[in-house]
Amino acid sequence: MSWDSIVGHGLQIRILRTAVSAGRLAHAYLFSGPEGTGKETVAFELAKLLNCRQVVNAGFSEACGRCESCRMIDDFMHPNVEYVFPVESVLLEQSDPSKAENKRIAEARDRYEALIEKKKRNPYFTPAMDRSMGILTDQVAALQQKASFMPSEGGKKIFIISQPEKLLAAAANKLLKLLEEPPEHVLFVLVTSRPESVLPTIRSRCQALKFSRVRPADMERWLSSAKAELSEEARRFIVNFSRGNLGTAVELAATAGESGDDAFEGLAIRNRAVEFLRTVLSPGRLDEAVSETENIAKNLGRQEIVSLLGALLLFFQDINHRKIDPSWRALNNPDLVEPVDRFVRNFGDPDFLALSIATEETIRAIQRNGNPLLTLGAFTIRLKRLLRRV
Ligand SMILES: [Zn+2]
Repeated sequence: MSWDSIVGHGLQIRILRTAVSAGRLAHAYLFSGPEGTGKETVAFELAKLLNCRQVVNAGFSEACGRCESCRMIDDFMHPNVEYVFPVESVLLEQSDPSKAENKRIAEARDRYEALIEKKKRNPYFTPAMDRSMGILTDQVAALQQKASFMPSEGGKKIFIISQPEKLLAAAANKLLKLLEEPPEHVLFVLVTSRPESVLPTIRSRCQALKFSRVRPADMERWLSSAKAELSEEARRFIVNFSRGNLGTAVELAATAGESGDDAFEGLAIRNRAVEFLRTVLSPGRLDEAVSETENIAKNLGRQEIVSLLGALLLFFQDINHRKIDPSWRALNNPDLVEPVDRFVRNFGDPDFLALSIATEETIRAIQRNGNPLLTLGAFTIRLKRLLRRV
């Protein structure tokens, strides 16, 4: 990795590089912006630059990416870099070989390690343990303790706190104390996609750096070089489908690589979404529609349901485009021109704004742990109302 390997965010990187060169880094930053834009990759790259043993100076300084320090950061093993995200409290319990409790702790550690491994494979992934209540007081207490020691090897300590909106109240208070009197040798980087949910007292102690969604052109360029094995069709699908979320793009590209372009999971989910829509809207197929809704709710994971709904959004967009301009070529689903046009003929003049709002709301409800069956059931009813046959 180097600054060049980061997708987009030229302005934010320039601001940080300039601050490093001028010796004017703030004590604490709040990186905010949509999910999957690579905010944390920027934080880790900054950590490397501040600890690299062979900084490359080509106009602006840059971490070498190869020295022991850079490699330790890649492996989440560097003593100067702390990465904090919501974990289960059992993870922090001391294990005592004489107790049966040990097994529980060991299992929690395995779950934690699995998340770190996933993060290594997909640097755009935002980890959080499933049974976590949030960022715990003990996690911040550990930071407090680590902050009291000088950094090793003359580098700088960096504490990267992922999802600071999930700090439990006591943890937030502890962090606030640290931010109020930050030790000279520690840099805090808080990273969030929900800055409005971060406590104002914490926000006000951090310099804000806003990130925007990765542009399709930047993502396309990155996929062509980093995932050169993808066919153009798969690449185009991934760019549209991931809607600027690099994490989603990495996952999709991995499944495309495993199973070949034709069968890859993203396309399979898209096809299922379109088939679902067709069933829901067909008169006389109510039973089928109900059982398919149940099937999706029961058998797909939350992330897959979100992907399916995301695919519907893109399909609606295509219908809207072809309705406005029947010769429109730049479809999200270029292989579905025929079904898109059939929709345009059959469904008159739907309210596309209401359709996308209904879909977006359903996506958010699923992401916020809404009951999948009830949420999808309600969505199906809205779809039937919004899409009437002519
Ligand atoms: Zn290095």
